[in-house]
Amino acid sequence: MAGLRRLAAGISGAGVFALCCTFCFGQNTSNDVPPVIDVHVHAMDESFPGGGSMCPNEAKFLASDPKTKEAPFGWDVEECTPKLYPAEKGEYLKDVVGEMKRLNVTAVVFGDPKSVQKWKDAAGDRVIPGTSFNEGMQPGARVSLEELRKHFTTDGFKVMGEIGLQYEGLSPSDPSVDKFFALAEELDIPVAIHMGTGGSGRANVTSPKFRGSMGNPLLLEDLLARHPKLRVQVMHAGYPMMDNMLTLLQANSHVYVDVAGLIWSYPLKEVNRYIQRLVEAGFEDRVMFGTDQMEWPKLMAYSISIIQNADYLTPEEKRDILYNNAARFLRLEKKTAK
Ligand SMILES: [Zn+2]
Repeated sequence: MAGLRRLAAGISGAGVFALCCTFCFGQNTSNDVPPVIDVHVHAMDESFPGGGSMCPNEAKFLASDPKTKEAPFGWDVEECTPKLYPAEKGEYLKDVVGEMKRLNVTAVVFGDPKSVQKWKDAAGDRVIPGTSFNEGMQPGARVSLEELRKHFTTDGFKVMGEIGLQYEGLSPSDPSVDKFFALAEELDIPVAIHMGTGGSGRANVTSPKFRGSMGNPLLLEDLLARHPKLRVQVMHAGYPMMDNMLTLLQANSHVYVDVAGLIWSYPLKEVNRYIQRLVEAGFEDRVMFGTDQMEWPKLMAYSISIIQNADYLTPEEKRDILYNNAARFLRLEKKTAK
């Protein structure tokens, strides 16, 4: 499907379009594309050097032997057509913003204030700025409370995230970070917390402090009890802890989930089963679309196609996941979002 979209993107002109209309390329024309909100984008301005191409939704994770030199990623290496490619040097931000315009995407972009500003400069109102209390990449280093307050009260930041405590082996209810969540509640700023996915299948190799158990959605309960007005975006939908995720969604209606990362990085059948279960358990209005965009410009189109092609979702449910739920969570003004 990504190939179809890429092909469609290359076709322009009414005559050519008329010839192709039986293949329903209308989604890719710039004027009639319904709006999408991607609630989970990272403010990189380059593809990672040496990141390479990627086949999404690979079918398995492989075992490795600690006696050997283990690769940082555990995904099986599979072939696919087309692959997702990183941008050329210096082109990433321009390429992603081009995709955002083509696909009519508004995105919550997370990062340090300087990096997010670059995205603002490049994409204007298509960027909803997000920042968190991590100071750089050093685990445990925090932005001061005063500085964080300024980001949200005078610098225009709208979401607190990505909060990656799981990578530090910490629970979101850990008392050491409570003051940041208290600030979010006081300022009525939604928080976006990484819960669940270990990503590469080699968390033990790449992130020694990461704990799968700290992604348990029920660890949010104490935090939510302390801050009853806090609005929480559970990033990666607590994958794969479905039963606990549903338990939390049942108990607390201020909790939403995003399907970022998991939507393209786990086996496709499993991804669809997870999203279907969330919806069929009654939480259609709490599932938000996201990518975890950080490397391959075409990832957005690919990830949108997974929702668009989900035969278990009605057209209304697809629009809710791709736009309406996030607009409600973020309290955006209503656009026409059919
Ligand atoms: Zn994450």
